[in-house]
Amino acid sequence: MCYKLSTMSSKLGINSIYMATEGEGIHIGTPQIFVRFQGCNIGCINCDSKDTWEFTEPEMDFDAAISKVEELAGEYPMRVKRVSITGGDPLHPKHVPAVTAIAKELKKRGYFINLEAAGTRIVHEIFDAIDFISFDFKTPSTGVRTNPKLIIKLWEQYQNKAQIKAVVASRHDYEAALDAFKNISEQTDHKFNVPWVITPCYEPGEELPKTLAQSIVELNHSYGAPFRVILQQHKVIYTSDFGDF
Ligand code: SF4
Repeated sequence: MCYKLSTMSSKLGINSIYMATEGEGIHIGTPQIFVRFQGCNIGCINCDSKDTWEFTEPEMDFDAAISKVEELAGEYPMRVKRVSITGGDPLHPKHVPAVTAIAKELKKRGYFINLEAAGTRIVHEIFDAIDFISFDFKTPSTGVRTNPKLIIKLWEQYQNKAQIKAVVASRHDYEAALDAFKNISEQTDHKFNVPWVITPCYEPGEELPKTLAQSIVELNHSYGAPFRVILQQHKVIYTSDFGDF
């Protein structure tokens, strides 16, 4: 299917567009411009961005969104040529036409495009057009289930440009991720090679849960370190006492 913004509402359901530094995936430390879509009906219990759930009236023009990205990217030679499309759920069918159009336009303008996918669907129109896909594996504490078949499909078609991410709140969560990892490895004849990142669960503004982080690291070592452990550094940086130098 070919999506054209001119054939749909010209307004986009965007929550915000802002510059930040990637804090929780294998591109950690990389400044990028986040395009955050408004609206998600997946309902993870421990979602840290519940303000993005409601599907509000789309308000931003397509051209204004592109201009905002270009403005944040700055002037040559210091331009930030990376964009992360996130949510909410950017792959909700309501967002797909806008995400497809924005991704293709920014790609034409030379941006590296990452997409934060909730792990509930694969959308080839978008996945084929972008540079990197971060795909969630939902652990039991989220109250949502990721179908392992989707991860195998991701591996089959997009293994060179993908990562899996899982938020871990307990030993049970870790072991659920490990079971899924083993199962997927077996089903792919141990050729499964997509990097899999786990991060301890906590809310923005909360203290880093050091004991949980240490337990996850130790558990990961004891199981032969199948996962990379990353601490969501944006939450460490942007604590409630964040202020000027
Ligand atoms: S998919 Fe993302 S935005 Fe939606 S509920 Fe889950 S964590 Fe929150």
